[in-house]
Amino acid sequence: MPSSKGYAALDAQSALAPFTFSRRDPGVTEIAIEILYCGVCHSDLHMARNEWGQSIYPMVPGHEIVGRVIATGSSVTKFKMGDVAAVGVIVDSCRQCAPCNRGDEHFCQQGATLTYAAPDRVDGSITMGGYSNNYVVDERFAHTVPANLDLASVAPLLCAGITTYSPLRHWKVGPGKKVGLVGLGGLGHMALKFAHSFGAHVVQFTTSPKKKEDALRLGADEVVVSSDANAMKAHANSFDFILDAVSAPHSLDDYLALLKLDATMTLVGLPDTPPTFGVFNLITRRASIAGSMIGGMVETQEMLNYCGEHNIVSDVEVIPIQKINEAFERLLKQDVKYRFVIDMSSLKG
Ligand code: NAP
Ligand code: ZN
Ligand code: ZN
Repeated sequence: MPSSKGYAALDAQSALAPFTFSRRDPGVTEIAIEILYCGVCHSDLHMARNEWGQSIYPMVPGHEIVGRVIATGSSVTKFKMGDVAAVGVIVDSCRQCAPCNRGDEHFCQQGATLTYAAPDRVDGSITMGGYSNNYVVDERFAHTVPANLDLASVAPLLCAGITTYSPLRHWKVGPGKKVGLVGLGGLGHMALKFAHSFGAHVVQFTTSPKKKEDALRLGADEVVVSSDANAMKAHANSFDFILDAVSAPHSLDDYLALLKLDATMTLVGLPDTPPTFGVFNLITRRASIAGSMIGGMVETQEMLNYCGEHNIVSDVEVIPIQKINEAFERLLKQDVKYRFVIDMSSLKG
């Protein structure tokens, strides 16, 4: 492989800065891709700043990758040179356990390999992510992209897309169901597009009154600003399902009180401090709090194909990589509509 360059965090405090490193040549079942676009997930910010206490430096973040195939191993069947390939949050797993065998590699019993800041199963190096010019990955962990979709707007599907598609499918969101979505950010706006597309009655909860119009345009049937106690109360005991995609610490109580008997609130947001809740709101409606993480390779491809068929992509603001630190700051101010995507051609300048 030609030498790789990207932007890295060298520790939890410093801004991301230019960084060069090397990747191995692709093995027989692997492809090398030139990265065209990489989305900016809030997890990248949590990780770069070691907010979950598991970071490894130097760290090249990025796990919403779309690129073009520049090399293929001799046994690769899914891709040929020049094809578009997409890579998400995991790039390997044991490939032998029960979850791996059914395509749920993200639940690998030995732990899946993350796209960055994780020990690589092949050569023991630490994986470096998509804020860079290239990637080497086994074809099993790369996806094909429907030809009708804009590639910059596809990138966020690889994390924000699958992380919301999967729980909405698992908890059978569809016609006749009333669904609440908490937090209108990168994940939230994809949840909104999917829940609307699946035919549910969708209520978007937001802390940002200025996002109301956008929420309606993105598919919400109703929008509630969560600081409006009366508007919240009007929805008491009425939801079949609530999905929480908030990145900052908060209480779940105001939302648990909105669940119907036997309904579920599923968390995908990962604040550094866990959300709080009172047990009374659970016992009085036999409610469940659940969690969900990305999706397996089979479901990720299913989600991409669904997006192709229904013309669903992310709403993106494309930035040069030189603006990544500014983008992180804007994420913290809830100032993104609704996903930053890095145009990797900016690395060449
Ligand atoms: P994001 O684009 O920054 O969106 C987060 C949203 O949370 C904001 O837009 C905002 O929505 C809401 N929010 C922010 N601060 C808040 C506060 N103090 N109180 C209440 N609401 C607040 O982030 P993202 O990329 O969508 O990621 C969201 C979370 O999911 C992150 O923690 C990320 O690490 C996690 N994640 C989990 C998985 C998984 O597999 N489970 C995968 C990817 C990401 P409003 O302005 O509408 O209130
Ligand atoms: Zn992510
Ligand atoms: Zn496994």
